Amino acid sequence: DDNRILQFRITEFGVGDQLILARDVTRLHHLEEMRKDFVANVSHELKTPLTVLKGYLETLQDTVPEEQARLRRALSQMASQSQRMEALVHDLLLLSRLESTNTDNTHQAVTVHGMLKRMRESALALAPDKHHQIVLEVPETARLVADPAELESAFGNLITNAVKYTPEGGHILIRWWQDDKGAHFSVSDDGTGIDPKHIPRLTERFYRPDTSRVTQTGGTGLGLAIVKHVLIRHGARLEIRSELGKGSVFICHFPRERLVSKPTALAQ
Ligand code: ADP
Repeated sequence: DDNRILQFRITEFGVGDQLILARDVTRLHHLEEMRKDFVANVSHELKTPLTVLKGYLETLQDTVPEEQARLRRALSQMASQSQRMEALVHDLLLLSRLESTNTDNTHQAVTVHGMLKRMRESALALAPDKHHQIVLEVPETARLVADPAELESAFGNLITNAVKYTPEGGHILIRWWQDDKGAHFSVSDDGTGIDPKHIPRLTERFYRPDTSRVTQTGGTGLGLAIVKHVLIRHGARLEIRSELGKGSVFICHFPRERLVSKPTALAQ
Protein backbone atom coordinates (compact mmCIF):
# COMPACT_ATOMS: atom_id res chain seq x y z
CA ASP A 1 0.00 0.00 0.00
CA ASP A 2 1.03 3.67 -0.18
CA ASN A 3 2.32 3.81 3.34
CA ARG A 4 4.26 0.59 3.12
CA ILE A 5 7.25 0.54 5.31
CA LEU A 6 10.42 -1.08 4.19
CA GLN A 7 12.40 -2.65 6.97
CA PHE A 8 15.75 -4.25 6.58
CA ARG A 9 18.81 -4.93 8.57
CA ILE A 10 22.14 -3.69 7.40
CA THR A 11 24.31 -5.99 9.50
CA GLU A 12 25.52 -7.57 6.27
CA PHE A 13 27.15 -4.23 5.39
CA GLY A 14 29.10 -4.41 8.58
CA VAL A 15 27.54 -1.32 10.17
CA GLY A 16 26.34 -3.20 13.21
CA ASP A 17 22.92 -4.32 14.33
CA GLN A 18 20.90 -1.27 13.30
CA LEU A 19 17.35 -1.10 12.06
CA ILE A 20 16.53 1.26 9.22
CA LEU A 21 12.96 2.38 8.61
CA ALA A 22 12.24 3.87 5.21
CA ARG A 23 8.91 4.99 3.86
CA ASP A 24 8.51 4.41 0.16
CA VAL A 25 6.78 7.56 -1.11
CA THR A 26 7.47 6.96 -4.80
CA ARG A 27 3.88 5.93 -5.41
CA LEU A 28 2.50 8.84 -3.42
CA HIS A 29 4.57 11.25 -5.50
CA HIS A 30 3.39 9.53 -8.64
CA LEU A 31 -0.27 9.82 -7.58
CA GLU A 32 0.21 13.49 -6.72
CA GLU A 33 1.73 14.13 -10.16
CA MET A 34 -1.21 12.33 -11.77
CA ARG A 35 -3.64 14.46 -9.79
CA LYS A 36 -1.92 17.65 -10.91
CA ASP A 37 -1.86 16.56 -14.56
CA PHE A 38 -5.50 15.52 -14.39
CA VAL A 39 -6.66 18.85 -12.93
CA ALA A 40 -4.60 20.77 -15.50
CA ASN A 41 -5.96 18.72 -18.40
CA VAL A 42 -9.59 18.83 -17.29
CA SER A 43 -9.43 22.60 -16.73
CA HIS A 44 -7.86 23.09 -20.11
CA GLU A 45 -10.45 20.89 -21.84
CA LEU A 46 -13.32 22.74 -20.15
CA LYS A 47 -12.17 26.07 -21.51
CA THR A 48 -13.25 25.62 -25.13
CA PRO A 49 -16.83 24.34 -24.59
CA LEU A 50 -17.35 27.07 -22.00
CA THR A 51 -16.29 29.78 -24.41
CA VAL A 52 -18.70 28.41 -27.05
CA LEU A 53 -21.57 28.25 -24.53
CA LYS A 54 -20.92 31.80 -23.40
CA GLY A 55 -20.91 33.04 -26.98
CA TYR A 56 -24.32 31.48 -27.76
CA LEU A 57 -25.74 32.75 -24.49
CA GLU A 58 -24.71 36.31 -25.31
CA THR A 59 -26.33 36.06 -28.75
CA LEU A 60 -29.54 34.72 -27.20
CA GLN A 61 -29.58 37.48 -24.59
CA ASP A 62 -29.36 40.04 -27.37
CA THR A 63 -32.19 38.48 -29.39
CA VAL A 64 -34.84 37.56 -26.80
CA PRO A 65 -37.35 40.45 -26.60
CA GLU A 66 -37.88 42.39 -23.32
CA GLU A 67 -41.41 41.05 -22.79
CA GLN A 68 -40.19 37.47 -22.49
CA ALA A 69 -39.13 38.18 -18.93
CA ARG A 70 -38.93 34.56 -17.72
CA LEU A 71 -36.69 33.55 -20.56
CA ARG A 72 -34.49 36.58 -20.07
CA ARG A 73 -34.16 35.80 -16.36
CA ALA A 74 -33.18 32.21 -17.13
CA LEU A 75 -30.60 33.37 -19.67
CA SER A 76 -29.14 35.87 -17.27
CA GLN A 77 -28.79 33.15 -14.59
CA MET A 78 -27.09 30.88 -17.11
CA ALA A 79 -24.74 33.68 -18.13
CA SER A 80 -23.71 34.42 -14.54
CA GLN A 81 -23.19 30.72 -13.75
CA SER A 82 -21.03 30.26 -16.83
CA GLN A 83 -19.03 33.28 -15.72
CA ARG A 84 -18.44 31.59 -12.36
CA MET A 85 -17.33 28.44 -14.13
CA GLU A 86 -14.95 30.43 -16.28
CA ALA A 87 -13.41 32.02 -13.18
CA LEU A 88 -13.06 28.57 -11.62
CA VAL A 89 -11.34 27.14 -14.68
CA HIS A 90 -9.04 30.17 -14.80
CA ASP A 91 -8.04 29.75 -11.14
CA LEU A 92 -7.58 25.98 -11.46
CA LEU A 93 -5.27 26.45 -14.44
CA LEU A 94 -3.33 29.18 -12.65
CA LEU A 95 -2.92 26.97 -9.58
CA SER A 96 -1.72 24.05 -11.74
CA ARG A 97 0.87 26.27 -13.36
CA LEU A 98 2.02 27.60 -9.99
CA GLU A 99 2.43 24.07 -8.69
CA SER A 100 4.26 22.64 -11.64
CA THR A 101 6.40 25.20 -13.42
CA ASN A 102 9.59 26.95 -12.54
CA THR A 103 9.50 30.60 -13.55
CA ASP A 104 12.55 32.01 -11.84
CA ASN A 105 13.61 33.43 -15.19
CA THR A 106 10.52 35.68 -15.25
CA HIS A 107 11.59 37.40 -12.05
CA GLN A 108 12.46 41.06 -12.35
CA ALA A 109 12.40 44.28 -10.34
CA VAL A 110 8.74 45.22 -9.92
CA THR A 111 7.61 48.72 -8.93
CA VAL A 112 5.07 47.71 -6.33
CA HIS A 113 3.64 51.20 -5.79
CA GLY A 114 2.36 51.56 -9.38
CA MET A 115 0.89 48.08 -9.33
CA LEU A 116 -0.97 48.66 -6.07
CA LYS A 117 -2.24 52.08 -7.13
CA ARG A 118 -3.92 50.48 -10.15
CA MET A 119 -5.29 47.69 -7.98
CA ARG A 120 -6.78 50.18 -5.56
CA GLU A 121 -8.71 51.77 -8.45
CA SER A 122 -10.00 48.36 -9.59
CA ALA A 123 -10.98 47.48 -6.03
CA LEU A 124 -13.03 50.66 -5.74
CA ALA A 125 -14.74 49.87 -9.03
CA LEU A 126 -15.52 46.31 -7.89
CA ALA A 127 -18.23 47.32 -5.42
CA PRO A 128 -18.95 51.06 -5.85
CA ASP A 129 -22.21 50.76 -3.89
CA LYS A 130 -20.30 49.65 -0.78
CA HIS A 131 -18.54 53.03 -0.50
CA HIS A 132 -15.41 51.53 1.02
CA GLN A 133 -12.57 53.70 2.12
CA ILE A 134 -9.44 52.15 0.64
CA VAL A 135 -6.18 53.67 1.85
CA LEU A 136 -2.81 52.97 0.27
CA GLU A 137 0.24 53.34 2.52
CA VAL A 138 2.94 52.25 0.14
CA PRO A 139 6.14 54.23 -0.46
CA GLU A 140 6.79 55.12 -4.09
CA THR A 141 10.21 53.53 -3.79
CA ALA A 142 8.77 50.07 -3.01
CA ARG A 143 10.37 47.48 -5.29
CA LEU A 144 10.55 43.72 -5.23
CA VAL A 145 12.28 41.07 -7.31
CA ALA A 146 9.32 38.97 -8.38
CA ASP A 147 7.21 37.61 -11.20
CA PRO A 148 4.93 40.61 -11.88
CA ALA A 149 1.91 38.57 -13.04
CA GLU A 150 2.09 36.20 -10.08
CA LEU A 151 2.53 39.05 -7.63
CA GLU A 152 -0.47 40.81 -9.12
CA SER A 153 -2.67 37.75 -8.74
CA ALA A 154 -1.60 37.22 -5.10
CA PHE A 155 -2.09 40.88 -4.10
CA GLY A 156 -5.25 41.05 -6.21
CA ASN A 157 -6.81 38.08 -4.42
CA LEU A 158 -6.10 39.57 -0.99
CA ILE A 159 -7.50 42.97 -1.96
CA THR A 160 -10.57 41.46 -3.67
CA ASN A 161 -11.27 39.36 -0.57
CA ALA A 162 -11.09 42.47 1.63
CA VAL A 163 -13.67 44.11 -0.65
CA LYS A 164 -15.89 41.00 -0.72
CA TYR A 165 -15.86 40.39 3.03
CA THR A 166 -16.20 44.00 4.18
CA PRO A 167 -19.69 45.46 4.36
CA GLU A 168 -20.77 48.89 3.20
CA GLY A 169 -18.82 51.84 4.60
CA GLY A 170 -15.92 49.64 5.75
CA HIS A 171 -12.23 50.51 5.76
CA ILE A 172 -9.46 48.74 3.90
CA LEU A 173 -5.79 49.53 4.43
CA ILE A 174 -3.08 48.40 2.01
CA ARG A 175 0.44 48.74 3.46
CA TRP A 176 4.02 48.09 2.50
CA TRP A 177 7.02 48.42 4.76
CA GLN A 178 10.58 47.21 4.89
CA ASP A 179 12.87 46.34 7.79
CA ASP A 180 16.02 44.30 8.36
CA LYS A 181 14.06 41.07 7.82
CA GLY A 182 12.75 42.04 4.38
CA ALA A 183 9.62 43.55 2.86
CA HIS A 184 6.09 43.20 4.15
CA PHE A 185 2.78 43.71 2.36
CA SER A 186 -0.48 43.76 4.27
CA VAL A 187 -4.18 44.13 3.58
CA SER A 188 -6.37 44.88 6.60
CA ASP A 189 -10.11 45.31 6.74
CA ASP A 190 -12.77 45.90 9.38
CA GLY A 191 -15.15 43.44 7.75
CA THR A 192 -16.74 40.14 8.75
CA GLY A 193 -13.56 38.58 10.13
CA ILE A 194 -12.88 34.84 10.50
CA ASP A 195 -13.13 32.59 13.52
CA PRO A 196 -9.44 31.91 14.38
CA LYS A 197 -10.08 28.15 14.46
CA HIS A 198 -10.45 28.21 10.67
CA ILE A 199 -7.25 30.17 9.98
CA PRO A 200 -4.84 27.18 9.69
CA ARG A 201 -6.95 25.66 6.88
CA LEU A 202 -7.84 28.81 4.92
CA THR A 203 -5.20 28.34 2.22
CA GLU A 204 -6.46 24.85 1.34
CA ARG A 205 -8.26 24.59 -1.98
CA PHE A 206 -12.02 25.10 -1.64
CA TYR A 207 -11.87 25.38 2.15
CA ARG A 208 -14.49 27.85 3.31
CA PRO A 209 -15.55 28.50 6.90
CA ASP A 210 -19.00 29.58 5.80
CA THR A 211 -20.39 27.61 2.87
CA SER A 212 -23.68 29.51 2.91
CA ARG A 213 -21.88 32.66 1.73
CA VAL A 214 -20.41 31.03 -1.36
CA THR A 215 -23.14 31.97 -3.80
CA GLN A 216 -23.32 35.53 -2.50
CA THR A 217 -19.62 36.33 -2.73
CA GLY A 218 -19.07 34.50 -6.00
CA GLY A 219 -15.46 33.53 -5.31
CA THR A 220 -13.83 30.35 -6.58
CA GLY A 221 -12.57 29.10 -3.21
CA LEU A 222 -9.06 29.04 -4.68
CA GLY A 223 -7.93 32.60 -3.99
CA LEU A 224 -5.91 31.98 -0.85
CA ALA A 225 -4.45 28.73 -2.25
CA ILE A 226 -3.15 30.82 -5.16
CA VAL A 227 -1.74 33.42 -2.74
CA LYS A 228 0.04 30.68 -0.78
CA HIS A 229 1.63 29.12 -3.87
CA VAL A 230 2.77 32.47 -5.27
CA LEU A 231 4.40 33.28 -1.94
CA ILE A 232 6.13 29.89 -1.72
CA ARG A 233 7.60 30.56 -5.17
CA HIS A 234 9.01 33.84 -3.87
CA GLY A 235 10.43 32.42 -0.66
CA ALA A 236 7.76 34.36 1.23
CA ARG A 237 5.09 33.37 3.74
CA LEU A 238 1.54 34.40 4.58
CA GLU A 239 0.43 35.45 8.05
CA ILE A 240 -3.28 35.69 8.82
CA ARG A 241 -4.79 37.42 11.85
CA SER A 242 -8.50 37.75 12.27
CA GLU A 243 -11.32 38.10 14.72
CA LEU A 244 -14.93 37.29 13.97
CA GLY A 245 -16.97 40.44 13.53
CA LYS A 246 -13.92 42.71 13.87
CA GLY A 247 -11.90 42.25 10.69
CA SER A 248 -8.82 40.60 9.26
CA VAL A 249 -5.19 41.24 8.39
CA PHE A 250 -3.34 39.26 5.73
CA ILE A 251 0.42 39.87 5.71
CA CYS A 252 2.92 38.66 3.09
CA HIS A 253 6.47 38.50 4.44
CA PHE A 254 9.16 38.62 1.74
CA PRO A 255 12.77 37.80 2.62
CA ARG A 256 15.58 40.37 2.27
CA GLU A 257 16.94 38.71 -0.86
CA ARG A 258 13.80 39.86 -2.65
CA LEU A 259 14.57 43.55 -2.12
CA VAL A 260 16.01 45.46 -5.05
CA SER A 261 19.44 46.70 -4.06
CA LYS A 262 20.43 48.64 -7.16
CA PRO A 263 18.31 50.19 -9.91
CA THR A 264 17.63 47.76 -12.78
CA ALA A 265 15.02 47.54 -15.51
CA LEU A 266 11.69 48.07 -13.82
CA ALA A 267 8.41 46.36 -14.61
CA GLN A 268 5.46 48.71 -14.16
P1 ADP B 1 -13.30 32.57 -1.76
O1 ADP B 1 -13.18 33.98 -1.32
O2 ADP B 1 -13.49 32.44 -3.22
O3 ADP B 1 -14.29 31.77 -0.98
P2 ADP B 1 -10.54 32.30 -0.84
O4 ADP B 1 -9.57 31.17 -0.94
O5 ADP B 1 -10.11 33.60 -1.41
O6 ADP B 1 -11.90 31.81 -1.49
O7 ADP B 1 -10.90 32.53 0.70
C1 ADP B 1 -11.28 31.41 1.49
C2 ADP B 1 -12.20 31.84 2.61
O8 ADP B 1 -11.50 32.67 3.53
C3 ADP B 1 -13.38 32.68 2.15
O9 ADP B 1 -14.48 31.88 1.74
C4 ADP B 1 -13.72 33.49 3.41
O10 ADP B 1 -14.55 32.75 4.26
C5 ADP B 1 -12.37 33.65 4.09
N1 ADP B 1 -11.77 34.98 3.85
C6 ADP B 1 -10.80 35.30 2.98
N2 ADP B 1 -10.47 36.61 3.05
C7 ADP B 1 -11.27 37.14 3.99
C8 ADP B 1 -11.43 38.45 4.56
N3 ADP B 1 -10.69 39.49 4.16
N4 ADP B 1 -12.36 38.61 5.53
C9 ADP B 1 -13.11 37.57 5.96
N5 ADP B 1 -13.02 36.31 5.48
C10 ADP B 1 -12.10 36.10 4.51
